[in-house]
Amino acid sequence: MIDLRSDTVTRPTHLMLEAMMKAKVGDDVFGEDPTVNELEGMTAAMFGMEAGLFCPSGTMTNQIAIKVHTQPGDEVICDKLAHIYQYEGGGIAFNSGCSVSLLEGDRGRITAQQILEAINPDHDYKAKTSLVALENTTNRGGGSCYNFADIIAIKEVCNQHNLGFHLDGARLFNALVEKNETPKQYGEVFDSISICLSKGLGTPVGSVLLGTHTFIKKARRIRKVFGGGMRQAGFLAAAGIYALENNIDRLREDHLHAKQIVTALASKEFVGEILPVETNIIIAEIIGTLNSVEFAQKMQEAGISLMAISPKQIRMVLHLDVSREMVQKIIQTIEKL
Ligand SMILES: *Cc1c(COP(=O)(O)O)cnc(C)c1O
Repeated sequence: MIDLRSDTVTRPTHLMLEAMMKAKVGDDVFGEDPTVNELEGMTAAMFGMEAGLFCPSGTMTNQIAIKVHTQPGDEVICDKLAHIYQYEGGGIAFNSGCSVSLLEGDRGRITAQQILEAINPDHDYKAKTSLVALENTTNRGGGSCYNFADIIAIKEVCNQHNLGFHLDGARLFNALVEKNETPKQYGEVFDSISICLSKGLGTPVGSVLLGTHTFIKKARRIRKVFGGGMRQAGFLAAAGIYALENNIDRLREDHLHAKQIVTALASKEFVGEILPVETNIIIAEIIGTLNSVEFAQKMQEAGISLMAISPKQIRMVLHLDVSREMVQKIIQTIEKL
């Protein structure tokens, strides 16, 4: 089976498992797991930020960040497709008691001007705008990337209006390799960054939240409140260290594979609008004689799993368990449909 439903489906390789088996561990709730401490330190250093916090999921790192940046009754600005709003179980309201100002972005990306217009005036009867959250790459926006200059412009608005600036960087490394950017550029601009190790980087579990020492001290307390304090988590952190050392550059291959598959899709009459493929995600419209569910079913019969994300749209995500040979098979299957 070739699984294109998500880049979260990857299984650890032998080399990653070996690194996990060899990990030195301790109780991380006591701050005594050397491998967790190493992962947090190495990630923070990579981004030029002060501190890191290893968490079980990207939902948790995002939700902790929102909790630390806000007070109940505050408002968070983000794109209407943002993961923090769409796919985290209403956590912004549930965990932080905040409302959300949703902006109509371009494939998940919002602009400084839109944000400026969405900031509430300082009135007793308005929610207090306190946080801007971006996603890079975007998930529901089809893996689109921000231009760094647009992020700088947003940072200026945040500075002028005293707003926190959080990045949901679940797939930030895909953006970095695609745009030839560096982690440090991002570390300089954002107050907090969440990165996922369990997506394109291929670990079984884990995300890291980055920020200042003061921010991470608060985040650590919230992690415990949310039930995310893990004990001998070094076995998992070791997979993260392995992934950061070995699996970043190879993301380019996934991007190449996505472009190859999309070329095959574009030639079929049952394919309508395809979102521009910038990284490892393909979102395409299925039209005419087939709908998205039927297309997914036909691919499934050929041993290829993908997601119908709406009645008209399908999504395919490339990752390190999809080899060059598998990509050839996917292309041949599409061509025969
Ligand atoms: C996957 C993802 C997350 C985190 O998801 P978890 O499944 O909780 O690790 C956060 N943001 C985006 C954009 C994602 O794609």
